[in-house]
Amino acid sequence: MKKNYYQPVVGLEIHIELGTLSKMFCGCSTDHFNKEPNTICCPVCLGLPGALPVPNEKAINWTIMLGLALGCQVNKESKFDRKNYFYPDLAKGYQISQYDQPLCLQGQTCLKNGKKIGIRRVHLEEDTAKLLHTEINGEKCTLIDFNRSGVPLLEVVTEPDFESADQVDEFLKKLQLIVRYLGISQADMEKGSMRLEPNISIRKNQISNIKNQNEKLKINKELPPYKVEVKNINSFRFVKKAIEYEIKRQTELLEKGETPVQETRGWNENKDMTVSQRSKEEAHDYRYFPEPDIPPMEFDENQILKRWGKSQIGELPDEKIKRFIAEYKLSEYNAEILCQEKSLADYFEQTLKAAKPKNISPDQVANWIINKKPDTTKIKPEDLAKIIADSKTIFIIDDTELGKVVRQVISDNPKAISDYKSGKTAVLGFLIGKVVGLTNPSIDKKLVQNELIRVLTKNT
Ligand code: ZN
Ligand code: MN
Repeated sequence: MKKNYYQPVVGLEIHIELGTLSKMFCGCSTDHFNKEPNTICCPVCLGLPGALPVPNEKAINWTIMLGLALGCQVNKESKFDRKNYFYPDLAKGYQISQYDQPLCLQGQTCLKNGKKIGIRRVHLEEDTAKLLHTEINGEKCTLIDFNRSGVPLLEVVTEPDFESADQVDEFLKKLQLIVRYLGISQADMEKGSMRLEPNISIRKNQISNIKNQNEKLKINKELPPYKVEVKNINSFRFVKKAIEYEIKRQTELLEKGETPVQETRGWNENKDMTVSQRSKEEAHDYRYFPEPDIPPMEFDENQILKRWGKSQIGELPDEKIKRFIAEYKLSEYNAEILCQEKSLADYFEQTLKAAKPKNISPDQVANWIINKKPDTTKIKPEDLAKIIADSKTIFIIDDTELGKVVRQVISDNPKAISDYKSGKTAVLGFLIGKVVGLTNPSIDKKLVQNELIRVLTKNT
């Protein structure tokens, strides 16, 4: 019997605004969020005729840094190209981007289940102006704010290797964390500094007698004859929803014997669905050609090693998590939580260093930071180490041990117990003292009292 098997094929394009101080091709500030419109611009980023672009070296460095962190090769010869199209947010009629010689290509990264995701390219371009659709004196109009125009924009393009919305979600969170570790952008979704465009299609297989997953995948590796791109999504949650929605929509079309249309769609967050925007343009529609105002770039192996060696890139999140598990014997769960923010991971290690002479284990420090969430901006690591040391006994005595001591004290002191039960609760202080005597003077008295009361009430 033949059966249809539908396999989602998902790729990603991700735009990230770099956190350089100045814009990509001029000296204007990149700090455009919530600023008075059109106050951070100059002839270059306004796209005035005759203005000449000067590339931002740091933006180039940072793009290569991310490329290397994603396992890419650095292109020995790279250049900028003009991507021509008309839109009101692009005053010069073209975007300076990169076409056939991106800064970085052919990378790869791994998901937790070992699945490999190919990185097709990492390139650099400029952000566009921002349109504001509004109404003035009852008349609909669109306003343009050029503050964002020319902000360095890094673009990561993956291979269509994802098979589910969850895989995409995991990858995006990982990418955001890497970007933050490298310190090249806050990659803040709310501020629009990280924008996501999934492309989704469904591969249809007609197969008989599937025995296992591997057999299924062997059957057809060809890409579907169409793809649907969902534009400019600004939240991880919406990307997930948009992909799930598209998988369902396209599968239904295929089941009816139709082929979904190749097009660009948008995510409508009010209706929880994607909506058609326009049919997808092909690369040749953009009439790419080399940017004549910027000379091509060349990189050699030595230079790459010197400028973007391991010491420049530093320890990446995955490496840090692995090291925390190996070096400090932390659980994977704790290591992952601590490494979610580089500053938190650093705080943990500094506290640990100060805690070592006080005989406090990495686990104790990790648990304290994770469970008690100390204000890391106010409490210095050395002080936290002291706090943990001072309260150490609370942690050392576990519930079973404390319960044992409490029961012993109760059976050793029948007189005090009957006094307590007849209402002389003041005797509790005496019993606490007995427990303290059998354990440690710095034990948490409140904890002892609670345990005593619990056992005494249970025995009544
Ligand atoms: Zn400018
Ligand atoms: Mn782009």
